[in-house]
Amino acid sequence: MRIVQVDLTPEEYHSDDALRRKAGAHEGEQARVVRRTLDCRRRNIVYHCTVEVVKGAEGLSSISSISRLSRVSSSARAVVIVGAGPAGLFAALRCLQQGLRPVIVDRGKPVEERKYDIARLTREKVVDPDSNWCFGEGGAGTYSDGKLYTRSTKRGDVGEVLRLFVDHGADPDIMLDAHAHIGTDRLSGIIANMRRTIVEHGGEYHFGVRVEDLLVKEGRVRGVVAADGTKYEGDAVILATGHSARDIYELFHRRGWLLEAKPFALGVRVEHPQALINEIQYHGKGYSPLLPAAAYSLTTQACGHGVFSFCMCPGGVIVPAATAGGQQVVNGMSNSRRNSPYANSGIAVTVGLGDVGGADALALLRFQQAVEGRVFEAAGGCIDAPAQRLVDFLRRRPSSRLNKSGYMGATVGAPLHEVLPPFVVESLIQGFKDFDRKMRGFVTDEAMLLAVESRTSSPVRIPRDRETLQHPQLAGLYPCGEGAGYAGGIVSSALDGIRCADAVSLRR
Ligand SMILES: Cc1cc2nc3c(=O)[nH]c(=O)nc-3n(C[C@H](O)[C@H](O)[C@H](O)COP(=O)(O)OP(=O)(O)OC[C@H]3O[C@@H](n4cnc5c(N)ncnc54)[C@H](O)[C@@H]3O)c2cc1C
Repeated sequence: MRIVQVDLTPEEYHSDDALRRKAGAHEGEQARVVRRTLDCRRRNIVYHCTVEVVKGAEGLSSISSISRLSRVSSSARAVVIVGAGPAGLFAALRCLQQGLRPVIVDRGKPVEERKYDIARLTREKVVDPDSNWCFGEGGAGTYSDGKLYTRSTKRGDVGEVLRLFVDHGADPDIMLDAHAHIGTDRLSGIIANMRRTIVEHGGEYHFGVRVEDLLVKEGRVRGVVAADGTKYEGDAVILATGHSARDIYELFHRRGWLLEAKPFALGVRVEHPQALINEIQYHGKGYSPLLPAAAYSLTTQACGHGVFSFCMCPGGVIVPAATAGGQQVVNGMSNSRRNSPYANSGIAVTVGLGDVGGADALALLRFQQAVEGRVFEAAGGCIDAPAQRLVDFLRRRPSSRLNKSGYMGATVGAPLHEVLPPFVVESLIQGFKDFDRKMRGFVTDEAMLLAVESRTSSPVRIPRDRETLQHPQLAGLYPCGEGAGYAGGIVSSALDGIRCADAVSLRR
């Protein structure tokens, strides 16, 4: 076998003959792309590809991660995992590899039932605080774009995470792309398959269990207490409740357990026609129809704040991501084909303690809550999305008309330049002007802003020891994933779940 680097046009990429020719494959040899990155910085758009050339049809056989699991016995050390999002699920899969018995509890429902609550939320505009776009099996990652890009490659084996997704039904192509995504239409099936693996190998699931307290015995955390008083006991607890589990932060605050404020980011979601983003990114209208819906990634500094695009969804839709009444929150998702006519992205401004005039651990959470409440009121007290055309926002004037939108609900005109905090507005205005310099045409009549993009990451950190990963005051408790402040996104949360399971297995 030999490895070669080749550049392929979109047409060559989709032609076996062109691939073989460019990779220099001789008769009897196969050529296979094992890594690809789309480079559209210049007019001649190419895929930079790493290609394996092998004799015959053998190729590299990948080692399935599932084959490394064996069934754990009912007497194995039990680990209570709170939260069935990416952090909790990958912690559970790793527990099984380590011979530990995962007991997963989640406040929400299995993914098959959760979808009815999500449909009802959109139809009736009522948020179920235990089953919504963020809570329920698969966590916030289930109804997402399923982007699998992470910068935290030093935190673990990203390939292992991707292999586990493929083992459970994801397209094997996710192993090739530098910026792979799965799509919400595929994710629910994958999450259900992971549940089957976990149960078949001796793990347990308990849905509809909202954890309200920790069970502390002789100075160690030995389990959790649910809202109905039921106790779930184990040798350790991995707490992976995500960035929206505000009741968990309140529990720590009430009990006097250590918490820290953590800088986060807040802003709006901007929506453009996808065709327009394609034209900007692919240098005009004449781009190849074989190219995927174009993405972008933008970042700048404005008014002393970082301003950046966040969770950009090509060919996606915008969803109401509130987790309780009285809040308005938006986020983005797309299906595997990314074929909606809209491109949307969060545009977020960094927020630190200095911006909110508070010093306690929950100061940034309170700020986040207050903004979500104000935006909810601006929508007329419901989860309709307050919206303003980008050009009007830049001129600080209300929109006399709104654009069509891919929001899963109604949009309602609102002066976001008055609703959002002044430093966020100023930073966004400067940021958008800079983005228009970097991507000519980004500021256009056709762009619209929807509010508020506030669940970018957790505004609170649950501290843990760097070595043992346990909470400094609560032996046996492993704060994990995005909600504890150690991850941001599906892959990094999954990696953190794996790390926490490894840390539990090391502690006897
Ligand atoms: C609409 C949307 C789109 C997104 N798109 C992407 C994307 O394309 N790519 C990407 O990398 N990231 C994306 N994200 C972010 C990503 O989903 C999160 O980073 C990731 O899910 C965090 O994983 P987690 O396991 O730490 O927490 P979560 O996924 O938030 O899971 C937490 C789980 O804990 C449960 N829980 C909460 N409180 C309790 C309690 N008290 N008792 C019991 N259970 C509880 C919840 O029901 C939930 O299942 C998106 C998020 C949203 C909302």
